[in-house]
Amino acid sequence: MKAAVVRAFGEPLVIEERPDPEPGPGQVLIRVEASGLCHTDIHAAHGDWPVKPRPPFVPGHEGVGVVERLGEGVERLAVGQRVAVPWLGSACGRCEHCLSGWETLCESQVNTGYGCDGGFAEKMLARADFAQAVPDGITPSDAAPLTCAGVTTYKALKVAGVRPSQLVAISGVGGLGHLAVQYAKIAGATVAAIDVTDEKLELASALGADLLIDARKDDPAEVLKRHGGAHAAIALAVNESAFVAAYGGLRRGGKLVMVALPAHGTIAVPIFDTVLNGTSVIGSIVGTRQDLAEVYRLHAAGRTRVIRQTRPLDSVNESIDEVLRAQIPARIVFEM
Ligand code: NAD
Ligand code: ZN
Ligand code: ZN
Repeated sequence: MKAAVVRAFGEPLVIEERPDPEPGPGQVLIRVEASGLCHTDIHAAHGDWPVKPRPPFVPGHEGVGVVERLGEGVERLAVGQRVAVPWLGSACGRCEHCLSGWETLCESQVNTGYGCDGGFAEKMLARADFAQAVPDGITPSDAAPLTCAGVTTYKALKVAGVRPSQLVAISGVGGLGHLAVQYAKIAGATVAAIDVTDEKLELASALGADLLIDARKDDPAEVLKRHGGAHAAIALAVNESAFVAAYGGLRRGGKLVMVALPAHGTIAVPIFDTVLNGTSVIGSIVGTRQDLAEVYRLHAAGRTRVIRQTRPLDSVNESIDEVLRAQIPARIVFEM
């Protein structure tokens, strides 16, 4: 099988021919049909974060495909079934986080395309319990971006507790942001979309954003404040100054939900303002299996649109460059 492999941080990925992996107990072998390129895969390939993957590894946590073989003891899935393999590759199922509906916080979790090989390949392994069934009626190339970009932003809006009539700022209308705009609209919010390219702002508008803020020309904090301030701001841009602007645009009682993960990212949170304004700053990491099932259900019901370009896996390095230059309409999906 063909796989795109990170051999060293910061180096181009190498397309390799590898033997098909063998499914162990509790695992399945999947023939990958489509695999989305998340900005997280780029952070992984660059070794951007304090906890690093160990090269050589295969990135990709939006892999969608068909179960080809079952490992010992797998009863939950059947050969021929379409599944997706999200970032949460496995969790222990026994700790306080797993037991309280927060499996995404499990300290024993293994992350797909980071702690084990991911979906940038023609075949991949998955833990059967964490491979998500993709409902009929969702194409593999639509299911792929929903598997991380979708579930992550759907969860971020849940964490923000967004209600109808609230003003929600979506900072960064990339792979994640284009779905965040749609979930915020579904939640009944008025949506302010912030980005730094005309194309992304046009896309946000086409997807229902009510207010467009071009951070090259205007200070998003000022514009949001002029509209009364945001009840919630979802920080999806890989840029610390965008976090600061989103924080600054909150109204009293507002919530900044941190989702993007810029390398070595920090922001200074002013204590006085945070206390007096009753501001919340919350981190949000992907979503649970249940969140992902809800994301698929919304899409199958025709309530979301996935904006993506499909490409062959061989284009992985050019595709990464284009994502870094923000030249992609929303998501790139590799079709195998
Ligand atoms: P992306 O590159 O597709 O999107 C980023 C967007 O931000 C682009 O549209 C870009 O034009 C815009 N942008 C850049 N500078 C900006 C600025 N100053 N103000 C406003 N917008 C600006 O990336 P993505 O795949 O959507 O991922 C975004 C981030 O989220 C990455 O850091 C990724 O690792 C992270 N992520 C986090 C989670 C999580 O669970 N917390 C899950 C998935 C991805
Ligand atoms: Zn656990
Ligand atoms: Zn991702």
